[in-house]
Amino acid sequence: MSERVKKDLRSMGIDDMTALLKELGQPAFRAKQLFGWVHEKQVQHIDDMHNLGKGLLAQLNEQCEITAMQLERKQVSKDGTEKFLFQLADGNYIECVLMRYRGDMSKQRNTLCISSQVGCAMGCTFCATGQGGFVRNLTAGEIVSQVYAVNHQLIEEGDTLPVGNVVLMGMGEPMLNLDNVLKAVALLNDPQGQQISIRRMTVSTCGVVPQMKAFADKKLDMVLAVSLHAPNDALRSGVMPVNNRYPLHELMDACRYYQKQTRNRITFEYALIAGFNDQPEHVAQLKALLKGLDCHLNIIPVNPVANTAQFSRPDRKQVAAFVKALQNAGLNASVREEKGTDIDGACGQLRGKVTGKQ
Ligand code: SAH
Ligand code: SF4
Repeated sequence: MSERVKKDLRSMGIDDMTALLKELGQPAFRAKQLFGWVHEKQVQHIDDMHNLGKGLLAQLNEQCEITAMQLERKQVSKDGTEKFLFQLADGNYIECVLMRYRGDMSKQRNTLCISSQVGCAMGCTFCATGQGGFVRNLTAGEIVSQVYAVNHQLIEEGDTLPVGNVVLMGMGEPMLNLDNVLKAVALLNDPQGQQISIRRMTVSTCGVVPQMKAFADKKLDMVLAVSLHAPNDALRSGVMPVNNRYPLHELMDACRYYQKQTRNRITFEYALIAGFNDQPEHVAQLKALLKGLDCHLNIIPVNPVANTAQFSRPDRKQVAAFVKALQNAGLNASVREEKGTDIDGACGQLRGKVTGKQ
């Protein structure tokens, strides 16, 4: 059997594995064992699954594989944030960023920001991933493998805390790869796997309305983050082409629908760009736009990206003043704690450096 048609075990849930083992003429109880090796122990090689028996291992080796990802580069920020560049089996690169929160024992956590696609078709002008265009969707196995690969790194470094929070804010638009994203979320949440609580997973979208509604209908307790970045259609369409297709009133309808379905608070991401979206009238526009929604605004000083000299990053004082104005207007707003800016923390930047593509 050729390499290409081998099935990736990391893309499989318990039902897929049960069906596979039936096909192979193996007893059903093997499915649980196989699932545990793949998704709990996160083995990297089929031969590492010691208790499956030689016959089954041979069958698995013939028909299946485990997503291979090579760590191509790792950068460590002064604040401890680590950025990983992985090469996929087909040569493409993806990134993820590990943020370690320390302090009180109860608050310690390792949060991993992962990618959902190679590249992105949405073309936001301030975004390094957007500048490089779309290559392909990641499989569910490639999505969970980012968590598993970083867990292996953590063990090597002697960090006893595995990844416990996942944010889909790396490369790509998760709503345009929704089936694989939801499959990966279910695998990461599985009690026989990593057991990452659904509430500790965040999906971020630029506002692809039909898929947001489909996502709302799943009624998942995931955190939904919406990349807003501008308070009116004229500004938003200027930097986010998706806004031409799904303007703000449609986006806000989708947000209200999501809230009706899930009752979850929505997070709005707002990259603050000096002189562009940080004026007093923008505070008033945001207040009107978000009226009636249970939401939080994350204000992020825009990250400088190559070829985006027009986006100037506001200084600390300007950011604080804007947040204060939002709060005075009655909105929930805070500055998102920034991590890893010295290591190209913004999405898509590291891949751009390696492939020469921004
Ligand atoms: N495609 C999804 C998720 C990946 S992008 C989305 O757009 O929401 C993750 C977040 O990084 C988004 O909020 C995106 O707008 C933001 N982002 C991209 N480039 C940025 C930059 N240069 N500065 C600040 N935030 C940026
Ligand atoms: Fe794609 Fe998100 Fe970047 Fe826009 S901000 S180009 S949607 S990854």
